[in-house]
Amino acid sequence: MAVRIDEDACIGCGVCEGLYPDLFRMEDDGKAHVTGLTDYDSTLAHEAAEQCPTEAIIEE
Ligand code: SF4
Repeated sequence: MAVRIDEDACIGCGVCEGLYPDLFRMEDDGKAHVTGLTDYDSTLAHEAAEQCPTEAIIEE
């Protein structure tokens, strides 16, 4: 399982970073990016995807 951000959909609200900062990080472009964390907690990642207001977090 991998997680990615649909940058066109991301509105930069910061919810994902607030929930799981080791996996999601806001960058200078005002969008969230996935860090290089490999052994991430998929339950927490899923929670972030659920809470993202624009469904920009894609689990695949
Ligand atoms: S929660 Fe969604 S919209 Fe908000 S910063 Fe994260 S990916 Fe972007």
